[in-house]
Amino acid sequence: MIDIHCHILPGVDDGSADMNESMYMARKAVEAGITHIFATPHHLNEKYVNVKDDIINGAVRLNESLQQNNIPITIHLGQEVRIHRDIFTSLEKEEILTLDDNCTYLLLELPSGRVPIYTQEVIYELLLKGITPIIVHPERNKELNENHKLLFELVQEGALTQLTSGSIIGSFGKSIQSFSKKIIEHNLAHFIATDAHNTGSRGFTLQQAYETITKAHGIDRTFYFKENAEHLLKDQSPDVDKPVPFKKKILGIF
Ligand code: FE
Repeated sequence: MIDIHCHILPGVDDGSADMNESMYMARKAVEAGITHIFATPHHLNEKYVNVKDDIINGAVRLNESLQQNNIPITIHLGQEVRIHRDIFTSLEKEEILTLDDNCTYLLLELPSGRVPIYTQEVIYELLLKGITPIIVHPERNKELNENHKLLFELVQEGALTQLTSGSIIGSFGKSIQSFSKKIIEHNLAHFIATDAHNTGSRGFTLQQAYETITKAHGIDRTFYFKENAEHLLKDQSPDVDKPVPFKKKILGIF
């Protein structure tokens, strides 16, 4: 399996602390059936700045260590970029790293509590530059959870989304789990990834998530997500199903 969002790069953010922990995480990922990991450190969030060149160097070192330790996982390049007023400056300075060699697909993180007022404008401007943002874990965003229509609009505008495996299996609670289900039902999810930060509470639960999706939505949906991750790995365009709008809640007197 392919994991497109993971904090396995050592010592750069709130994920793996050092190379030993990265090796331990990688072994756990292998046990969980994962063969390819996109290392996606935080960039421009309140705490961490990880620019393109540093991530490239870190990934080279990590791949070397994996080979020396005979751990059959390949690390690919990526970055989780927080939506930020400096995002376009960072892009101009060539600090931003997409998931593919064609500079097309970018993991974009919203703050957990809200959707900044300039979000739609940032998405629009990125799309104009030929970059498709993949909004990471929209199911964990409080404002989107309260305003499903807004998520529909962001996807309608051209953004893609990635759900986190832990959300699907209930690790973040019932509300986030049920929102994840709705997002899938309305064709608003395009990728599943672990967003693993460690081997404990934020571990490699991709297989469990796919099993849950197969039970709830059918095996075709699982194949859709797996295939989209493979498309990214091969620098191909993912499949995008037509988003289904949420029905308006009708308030009535009974
Ligand atoms: Fe992340």
